[in-house]
Amino acid sequence: MTTLFLIITFILGLAVGSFLNVIAYRSVHGGSIFFGRSRCPHCKKELKTADLIPIVSFLLLKGKCRYCGKKISLQYPLVEVATGVLFAFTFYFWNITYHVSSVSYVDLAQLIFLLFIVSVLVVLFVTDIKDGLLPNSIVLPAIIVVLAYKTFLTFFIPLPISSLLADLLAAFLAALAFFVIVFVSGERAMGGGDVKLVFLIGLIVGWPAILVSLFASFLTGAAVAVMLLLIGKKRFGQTIPFGPFLTIGGFIALFWGQQILDVYLRTINR
Ligand SMILES: [Zn+2]
Repeated sequence: MTTLFLIITFILGLAVGSFLNVIAYRSVHGGSIFFGRSRCPHCKKELKTADLIPIVSFLLLKGKCRYCGKKISLQYPLVEVATGVLFAFTFYFWNITYHVSSVSYVDLAQLIFLLFIVSVLVVLFVTDIKDGLLPNSIVLPAIIVVLAYKTFLTFFIPLPISSLLADLLAAFLAALAFFVIVFVSGERAMGGGDVKLVFLIGLIVGWPAILVSLFASFLTGAAVAVMLLLIGKKRFGQTIPFGPFLTIGGFIALFWGQQILDVYLRTINR
C-alpha cells in the first residue's frame, strides 16, 4: 500500500516539478505564474502539450527544442526528478508519523503543507542558483500561507498559542541576525532576499529547530565554497549565493530538526 502511494507521490512530484520550473522562470523574467502557455526560451515558439510531459518529452526530444533545435537546459528534467524524489520522501516521512490508514483532515493538511513548503524551497533554490534572486513574488506569499496555516492550527486543533509565538520569535530573531550580517557586510555575501528567506524558514521550522537549519546552511555553504575553490571554479573573495544553502538547511530542519537537537543535547549533557 505504502509503495503505491510512494509511486503516486513521485509522479505527482514530477508534474509539480515541471510547474515549479515554469514558476522559477516567470518569477524572475516576468509573466503570469498561472496563465499563458509555455514557450521555448530561445525561439519563443509556443510549446505543445506533447513537449511538456515531465522527463518523457525531454528524453523523446533528446534534450533539444522541437522547433529550433537548441539544447533544453538540464535544469528542467533535474528539477522534475528532484521534486518527484522529494515528494515521495515527504510522503514517506509523513507516513511514519501519521499513517495513511488512519488519517484525519488535519493530518492530510499537514501533508499538503509539507509538500507546499518543499515546492517553495525548490523554486527558491533554482532562482537563486540560476539568477541570484529570491523573488518577493515567491517569498512573501509563502510567508502569508505559512502564517495562515500556523494560525489555523493554533485555533482549530488547538495548539497552544506559545507554539505560534515560538515560531514567530524564531522568524524574527533569525531575520534580525541576518539583517545585521547584511548590514555589516554591505550586502556583499548576502542580500535582503536572504533576510526574508530566513524569516520564512524560521516561521516554518520554529524555535529551536531554526538553529539546526542555520547551522546546516553555514556548514553546507562552507563545504561547497571550499570545494569550488579547490576545483578552481571560484577564486578567493568571490561570493556564491547563500539562498540555496538556506533552502537545504530549511529542508533538513523541517524533517530532522528535533532529532538533530536531541542528539546534540545528549552529547553535551554527557
Ligand atoms: Zn526553440
